[in-house]
Amino acid sequence: MVVSMPKQQQTPAQRAPGAVGIVRLFGVPVRFHFTFWLAVVWLIYMGASGSQTLAGTALYVIGLFVSVLLHEGGHALAARRHGIPTLEIVMLPLGGLARLERQPKPAEEFWVALSGPLVNAVLGAGLLGGIYATGGTIALSHWQQATDGNILPRLAVANLALALFNLIPAFPMDGGRVVRSLLAARRPVDVATRMTSRIGTAIAALMALYGLLSANFLLVFFAFFVYVGALQETMATSQQALMSGASVGEAMITDYRTLNHGDTLREAAALLLATSQQDFPVVAGDRVTGLLSRAALLAAMAADGPEAFVAGAMDRDFARLSPEMDLSDAAPLMAAGGNCALVFEEDRLTGMLTAENLSEFLILRKIRAERAEAPAPKEPHHG
Ligand SMILES: [Zn+2]
Repeated sequence: MVVSMPKQQQTPAQRAPGAVGIVRLFGVPVRFHFTFWLAVVWLIYMGASGSQTLAGTALYVIGLFVSVLLHEGGHALAARRHGIPTLEIVMLPLGGLARLERQPKPAEEFWVALSGPLVNAVLGAGLLGGIYATGGTIALSHWQQATDGNILPRLAVANLALALFNLIPAFPMDGGRVVRSLLAARRPVDVATRMTSRIGTAIAALMALYGLLSANFLLVFFAFFVYVGALQETMATSQQALMSGASVGEAMITDYRTLNHGDTLREAAALLLATSQQDFPVVAGDRVTGLLSRAALLAAMAADGPEAFVAGAMDRDFARLSPEMDLSDAAPLMAAGGNCALVFEEDRLTGMLTAENLSEFLILRKIRAERAEAPAPKEPHHG
């Protein structure tokens, strides 16, 4: 599987909580979540039976996870070919996750998503070919009775199964991304995403129905997983689509109040009460020296009292935007700056962008887009 992370989430502390042990694959750090080790131990424990030794089972389980690791390595290498670094590969009990620095464009996504299952298909076919060439037998009975003698054929089939499973054409599976990238060649990304999500929802509904009828609750659980994947992907891309083509200048607040560098927290608190504003630019003459957020104001008020100066409480390292900037580029910067950024036109403060304002702008833009698509309402009659 592949996920991309917004820039502001890339601080090391937030990467993969609970990760234990670090190795590298093609230069990408691989982290093993501690639940992954639990799954390894559980699988080996459950797999060791009369016909299979503990060592044989361990070998098979290790082979299985190396296959998953190489699958993620495939994603990472394909992403690198398109200039997208992979932050890390996380190994989880249900599979791996390659975290990319940014979302691949539709044309790039095809190869990035396909390369994972492709690795498993090549591994599986290669193993089967190797077994066949060396005179080994490939029989269905192998997979009914696990023994130390048929580890390789079982790994071959497991790899082919991994390839097929990941190619299910639904988010968050790789197959869903492949389908989206193909559909996006002829239409906007958000339309392609909605179509892929509809396919995913239909698959999820069929799986849930079949799972319930056959009392296979693992399948019902998986159907739910696919359903949520479809919802999330649709939401993420429709936000992105709503922002595209709009500039910071269109969405920013232009009517706001500022504080003076020499003001006290008492004066700032009065302004907080009198207005609906939560963040205040602090100015000295025509220069902006900082940004005072509601949280910083309240914290300083509690610690230093109302007579302390706003200059001691404000954030001097606030996010700066320009009015021409694309909203989709500005939104992550605004989010990283504590959900507020100041907009400057050649060092002159011209506006503010906050999370609330951005969401209002997007809602309005959505309504306008829907009205433009719908047939025009009848003009009311006058006189
Ligand atoms: Zn994958």
